Amino acid sequence: MSYVGPDSQPPRPPRRFTGGPLTVTLAALVPTCLAGWLIYEATSGPGGDEPARTLPATSQSAQGSSPAEPSSSASGKDDGKAAGKGDKGDKGDKDKASDEPSPAKPAKPSGRPAASGPLKGKVVVIDPGHNPGNGKHTTEINRLVNVGTHRKECDTTGTSTNNGYTEAQFTLDVSRRLRTLLQSQGATVKFTQDGDRPWGPCVDERARIGNNARADAVVSVHADGSAAGNRGFHVILPASVKSGAADTSGIVVPSRDLGERIAGKFLSATGSAPSNYVGDGTGLDVRKDLGGLNLSTVPKVFIECGNMRDSKDEALITNGAWRQKAARGISDGIVSFLRG
Ligand SMILES: [Zn+2]
Repeated sequence: MSYVGPDSQPPRPPRRFTGGPLTVTLAALVPTCLAGWLIYEATSGPGGDEPARTLPATSQSAQGSSPAEPSSSASGKDDGKAAGKGDKGDKGDKDKASDEPSPAKPAKPSGRPAASGPLKGKVVVIDPGHNPGNGKHTTEINRLVNVGTHRKECDTTGTSTNNGYTEAQFTLDVSRRLRTLLQSQGATVKFTQDGDRPWGPCVDERARIGNNARADAVVSVHADGSAAGNRGFHVILPASVKSGAADTSGIVVPSRDLGERIAGKFLSATGSAPSNYVGDGTGLDVRKDLGGLNLSTVPKVFIECGNMRDSKDEALITNGAWRQKAARGISDGIVSFLRG
């Protein structure tokens, strides 16, 4: 599906990383990041680019469900319907490239919650997209919930790489690494799910968890399921929405700040380029169809770390060292936001 439609229209003109009126911090990062990107390209070959954002499910499994939370392209199916197969994975990572410490454990001894640190007193909610068990609970996750603007699936299975590494495995791994990094800075970190429940939670509950925690920042971690050739990351910001239970008027501005900082730091930490198929090169997108954003009353963004269906992005996503960089980039963005 092509990525066009009312839900994806940014409220303001897209801003590019290069040359645009992005933040000074971001602009300053560009040379370094571009250098990193060029190095990556030089070693990995030319990267494809463009087309549609959604890829039809492969044989992999649990058909169905368009990704509920960042899903969707205009039609609401973005991250692909693939997935599923992935229930094999809520236990850390066993993929070939796990050269990093297990995400379930601290990256290093000092990774435990710090008694003090620059983020002491700050609460960060991390929302690992989907759940490895969703594929086995299709009835539950297909139930419709009210997201203010409309009703949509409670949750979805998420996507997967063509080789079966699931988005749910990926999001938990990156989220656990992220937690370790944030805790080492003194933050209080809460998860919406940690592979410790059979399915879900639903997108409305995911939002509620951040709200009830009075989180200073919430990040929902995902990877996309778009067509091969589509590459790169993008951060999804809440649009201005006021409908039913949804009212984002208080979070649009701070969420953009959070998202821009995460995009800049992610670019810097990973060397990955901003998406070549969403956001016109800005690495930013604005959506009003995501319940997790619509129902949030605290600053919140989603990040699609890459496209699982592209072989070059897959090589990154399945590499533990790269996932550590991804977590570092997100963490740095959150730290920057919370420290102002
Ligand atoms: Zn997702």
